[in-house]
Order: sequence, then C-alpha cells, then structure tokens
Amino acid sequence: MFEINNLNAGYEFRNKFVHAVRNVSLKIDSDDFMGIAGESGCGKSTLVLAALKLLKKPGKIMSGQVLVDGIDILALSDKELRKMRWKKFSLVTQSSMNSLNPVLKIKDQMADVLIRNHGFSKSDAYNLIQEKLQLVGITADRMESYPHQLSGGMRQRVVIAMALLLSPSVVVMDEPTTALDVVVQRSILQQIEELRKKENFSTIFITHDISLLFELASKISIMYAGELVEIGRAKDVYTKPLHPYTKGLIEALPSISKDLDSYKSIPGRPVDLGTQIIGCPFRERCPYAFDKCAVEKPELNYVENEGNGRWVACHLY
Ligand code: SF4
Repeated sequence: MFEINNLNAGYEFRNKFVHAVRNVSLKIDSDDFMGIAGESGCGKSTLVLAALKLLKKPGKIMSGQVLVDGIDILALSDKELRKMRWKKFSLVTQSSMNSLNPVLKIKDQMADVLIRNHGFSKSDAYNLIQEKLQLVGITADRMESYPHQLSGGMRQRVVIAMALLLSPSVVVMDEPTTALDVVVQRSILQQIEELRKKENFSTIFITHDISLLFELASKISIMYAGELVEIGRAKDVYTKPLHPYTKGLIEALPSISKDLDSYKSIPGRPVDLGTQIIGCPFRERCPYAFDKCAVEKPELNYVENEGNGRWVACHLY
C-alpha cells in the first residue's frame, strides 16, 4: 500500500551535506500501525517529510522511490500530487499551531482542502467537515472558531479531523501529541485507536517515546543515524530486542516499579550525519562492538528468531 524504497535525503547548506535519511526502505500494509522510534535528530521527521514530498529547502531528496498504490509519488508533478494528497495519504504534524492558519476559521481552512483541490461545493464541504469534526468529538458550532479560541487538545483533534477528511488509506502522524500534557495526550491516543477501527486507515506514527509505541503500534521500526536498524512486530521487539541500540532504548525506559538507579542510559552521542560513516554507525556507543564493526557497515537482514523473526542491521546476527 505504501512502500519506501532506498530513500536518501538530507540538508545542504554552506557546502556541507547532512545525510539525514540513508537508504531507507519500508513497507506499510493495510491495517498496519507502524511506529518509527529513535532519538531526536536520528532522521524520523526527515524520513516522513521526504517520503511525502514535503521536504523544503535546504532539504533535498537525492534518490529513492515512494510507491502509493503502485504509483511513485516522488516522480509526480505538484499538480498530480495534490490530487493524491488527503485522498490516498495525509499528514498530522507535531504542532497543531503550525498546521492551522491563525486568521482563518476552522471551517474555512478545512474547506480550502476540499474546494480548491478536490472540487467540492461549499455546502458539501461544510457537511463533510461537520461529520469529521464530530468523529473526533468536536461539536459543529466549533467550525466557526479561530484556532486561538480552542484548547491545544482541541486544535490537535481538528488537525486529525482534517487529515481524515477524504478518508485516506494511510495517515502519517509526526509526534502528534508531543506538545500536549499527558492527560490530553492519552485521550487523543485513545481517539486515534477508535478512529483507526472506524475509518480503517494504516498509520505511520513517529515518536521519540518508544514506550508509547509498544502500547499502540502493531509493528516498530527503530531508526538510528538516518537508517532503520530493527523492524519487527512491536510485541517481539519489546520482549526480545535484537539490535544493541533497541536494547539500550528499552533499558532506558522508566518503569513505575523499578528503582531509579536501575535505569541505564546509552553512553555517548549519535554520530555527525554530516560526515562519512565507515562501519556501523552505532559502534562507538555499542557494548558488543568488535573489529568488523569498525570497517564494514551492517546491512538490514532478516533474522529468524524462534518464531519472532525480524529485520536487523547488526553484525551479531
Ligand atoms: Fe554493535 Fe557491531 Fe552490531 Fe553495530 S554491528 S550494533 S557495533 S555489534
């Protein structure tokens, strides 16, 4: 349904290129809830922006293919792409205030998508908007509000309703609850779960909060230094992480029952994505590193693991 093949993207400025997404391939099937997790700066947001052809300058897509229902959207013109956006796939961004225009009423910015790009009449557009807002628990009278008249949680619900306007098959959510307090966060996540059942869409969910993904996602991809290093079913990755970086992320998870002293953080810092990386990008932080890791880059390979096989990029497997 949604397939990323060998995608390379990054940022170019002052003759330096930061290679933020390195040869990433990923497949999302219908009904998948694919979580992508990793530290800040590992390339998660760049990956989705590049995959949706939304990466702005100095961002640059160097190579790759993104197939949506078999069509390579990176090869489409802006006009062709506008016809597919919202209908085949949509995006929920990190901060609702970045998606909503402060000087437009909610109904007008939602209607803009429908009228300008998809030929709706004004009355049909308003009817559909009302229906989708109700789906996320927002009453019809709120259509007349400006974004500043809504709470942060309501604004994020509006952005989610907007992403669902044309019932796309894939909804990409880039840290959709990061800017919200934990109580609102929880209620929005529950709502996303209910919406998935009702509206039947696949989800790509980006977050640095890996514990959240273990609760929500059916599959998980762990990203490090612009590359995917482990991809598998969420339950399997949580119960038996294979890649040393995934192990480190899980060991660093806070728990209600553990002593604070038992948490381990991953030592060191991520590599500079503006440099050429030789060998495994995780080797300077990896407790299992051996000679081969310094000279040969591990490829993502399928590893059989007692019934819970998955893709892992590590020389240990
Ligand atoms: Fe660690 Fe080597 Fe595996 Fe990289 S390839 S994660 S350095 S063991």
